[in-house]
Amino acid sequence: MSKVILQIDGNNFYASCEQLVDPSIKGKGLVVLSNNDGCIVARNSEARKMGIPMGQPYFKLKNKLTQLNINVRSSNYELYGDISNRLMQLLRKNCEELEIYSIDEAFGTIKRPKEKCLYKWGKNLRTLVYQNIGIPISIGIGETKVLSKISNYLAKKTQNNSGIFDIGIIENKDPYLNLVKVDQVWGIGKRMSIWLKSKGITNARELRDMSSNQIKGKYGVVGLRILNELKGILCIPINETSSDRKEISVSRSFSDPIDSLEELNQAIIKYVLIASSKLRKYNQLSSAITVFTNTNIHSKDFYKSKATGEINIPTSDSRTIIKTSLELTQKIFKPYRKLTKAGVILHKLERNKYKQNLLFNSEFIREGLYQERLNHLIDQINNRNGRDTISWGSSIIENEWSPRREKASLIKTTNMESIPKIYAN
Ligand SMILES: [Mg+2]
Repeated sequence: MSKVILQIDGNNFYASCEQLVDPSIKGKGLVVLSNNDGCIVARNSEARKMGIPMGQPYFKLKNKLTQLNINVRSSNYELYGDISNRLMQLLRKNCEELEIYSIDEAFGTIKRPKEKCLYKWGKNLRTLVYQNIGIPISIGIGETKVLSKISNYLAKKTQNNSGIFDIGIIENKDPYLNLVKVDQVWGIGKRMSIWLKSKGITNARELRDMSSNQIKGKYGVVGLRILNELKGILCIPINETSSDRKEISVSRSFSDPIDSLEELNQAIIKYVLIASSKLRKYNQLSSAITVFTNTNIHSKDFYKSKATGEINIPTSDSRTIIKTSLELTQKIFKPYRKLTKAGVILHKLERNKYKQNLLFNSEFIREGLYQERLNHLIDQINNRNGRDTISWGSSIIENEWSPRREKASLIKTTNMESIPKIYAN
């Protein structure tokens, strides 16, 4: 038995989540908008077939979308995060190792029974996920991460594959690698693909067969790794602890500009609360915070500002981080500026198992324990009932400037109140 790498990916993930909570839009065109209803960030296959492009500003396509009868949804990250968690939990049960790569993507490993194609195994997993979570996935199988990514690409491209492809079982991979353009290969960035094309390398097969020295000379070990992975030599291992983030950033654009310190404080506190609950979710602590804000980049008197502060003892406590952030907000605020965006970044992150405490200060340690329990309780309540069920007084706001979400799906899987009611006679 040999170990194989799987690459699993939710198809049109945001759109699939929206369809999941509103089956009436199934089979019809659907697009999802970015924060503040700005641009189109996701679409389902029906909208794609109707020629709706990604990344376009919503206001430009508004009429066209109405004409074509395409449904529009504001992004609902709370919903996508919840569905993602469920998906990853189920995948973890069915793989030996699992690396969560993004909200809708994971790498996993399983053992391949001698020379056996894993198509049937993949099909079962796909059915299991659809039955339990309700969203379609694609599965790519290969000897390495790069090959499993290619496999997944082929799984999606070719209709007959029905979302599963196992390149690992195929002896002569050349015809398949020929189908994959070099800029589709995982790890090949824009610059690298321009350089490769200038050397006459246009597809994955040519990349695999190019001289190792040539790519190593230009891109060092990073380039060499991709080449070797294409040859089936595992160089990029599964990283199960990839949730160890280096920083956590939360920022938003306001629907209407703000110009008072009070409003800026409220926004910053709101973002600190989201960021610190993420810290706790990933069992991390932070010892530095940056807050920033800016006016519209196209305005005549464009203004932007940021300030960073240290936190003496690494923490994940909302109240402690709020305190530091409010001192910083004073520094970045300037009166009469029409601020359109603000955000916070928590950095200098570390694992919370190495938490430092002040020696000989039992009062401080006791208070720390209370804080931890309070934060934990707030997280639990908010996870169950929706993000703002319990919040800190200073963040309770009139939401005039809150990002626009006019088309948000009404049903949330994270909020008891939003669960649909069914009446039976
Ligand atoms: Mg996807």
